[in-house]
Amino acid sequence: MINIDTSNRLKKLPPYLFAEMDRIKKKAISEGKDIIDLGVGDPDKPTPMHIIEQLYEAARDSKNHRYAMDMGLLKLREAIAAWYKRRFNVDLDPESEILPLIGSKEGIAHIPLAYVNYGDEVLIPDPCYPPYKSGTIFAGGVPYLMPLLPENNFLPCLDAIDCQVAKRAKIMFLNYPNNPTSAVATDEFFKKVIEYADENNIIICHDAAYSEMAYDGYKPPSFLEFEGGKDTGVEFHSLSKTYNMTGWRLGFVCGNADVISALRKVKSNIDSGIFQAVQFAGIVALESDQSNIDKLIAIYQRRRDVLVDGLNSIGWKVEKPKATFYVWIPVPPGYTSNELTKSLLEKVDIVTTPGVGFGPNGEGYIRIALTVSEERLQEAIDRIKRLHR
Ligand SMILES: *Cc1c(COP(=O)(O)O)cnc(C)c1O
Repeated sequence: MINIDTSNRLKKLPPYLFAEMDRIKKKAISEGKDIIDLGVGDPDKPTPMHIIEQLYEAARDSKNHRYAMDMGLLKLREAIAAWYKRRFNVDLDPESEILPLIGSKEGIAHIPLAYVNYGDEVLIPDPCYPPYKSGTIFAGGVPYLMPLLPENNFLPCLDAIDCQVAKRAKIMFLNYPNNPTSAVATDEFFKKVIEYADENNIIICHDAAYSEMAYDGYKPPSFLEFEGGKDTGVEFHSLSKTYNMTGWRLGFVCGNADVISALRKVKSNIDSGIFQAVQFAGIVALESDQSNIDKLIAIYQRRRDVLVDGLNSIGWKVEKPKATFYVWIPVPPGYTSNELTKSLLEKVDIVTTPGVGFGPNGEGYIRIALTVSEERLQEAIDRIKRLHR
């Protein structure tokens, strides 16, 4: 019987705050309780049929059964470049400025390996999507947290970053529209970020997974639209949320050619590309009629309104998010975010995510995902009313 201690890097990962929640949730399900799961950000609708048909066809072609190229199919990179041009009016060179990923999480988690040495700080928003931290720790880096506070509209205050840290740091992660706060960034903010990155010699890694998930006519910009964007960083995109393709694992990173090349070198030593049939399906997703996205947005927008209007009607103070399929909800007085999440699950069978699970500045909030039907959201509100009685 062997008995081997795990690596220090595994031990350094933030504690798994959802363990207790998972346990309570599993127990409730095994007892036959009718759980409303508003926890995970995973679309409930299927992938559009024309994308599935393309996978089916490409999977039959034996040419697609072999190892894929580490850069991905040129046709996919060209489709990405064309989509980017149409959507953001940004020119990208398919040969040097675009790298397909096995889901954007994969690229996000690996990019610190390309630049971070032992003990280097990486600038990370707090609260945040967890892979920014775990990728940093796996590379031997140290997360330096930039608080996202309501008084600053959940944008990090660049002037509050320690000057010495800023001089040393090589990477800053940003994410707008934001998970978990659902905040959006202003043009002024992106311009300031570019200036800051240029001054301090920092690579901006902007995660734009929710660039297409926005409401009330708002169209989130690309970080690369702004002057100097491509000189200072890269942008991560995902087909997961836009096309209901979370399980397919397809995303891409684009922008600064040196950064793309460094990440490609890391990846060529770790993975062996993306199943080509999935790449062909991705091409169809990007090139076909995009009206499915408008329909999807309309669905989430109606759900958002049901949830936020409902919560406000019972005295909670919640704002309507402009983007993402999350609602970031200040916990009513008398609870911590963990306590509220636990009460909702134990007393009214609703799963939510405690804000503190995304970092210390998530305390005081819970996150709800709009990935269930309007009827279920209404049912959730009726149950929450009971919690107050
Ligand atoms: C969902 C999500 C992603 C997308 O991940 P994939 O690996 O492309 O499925 C990336 N960033 C954030 C903030 C997300 O919420």
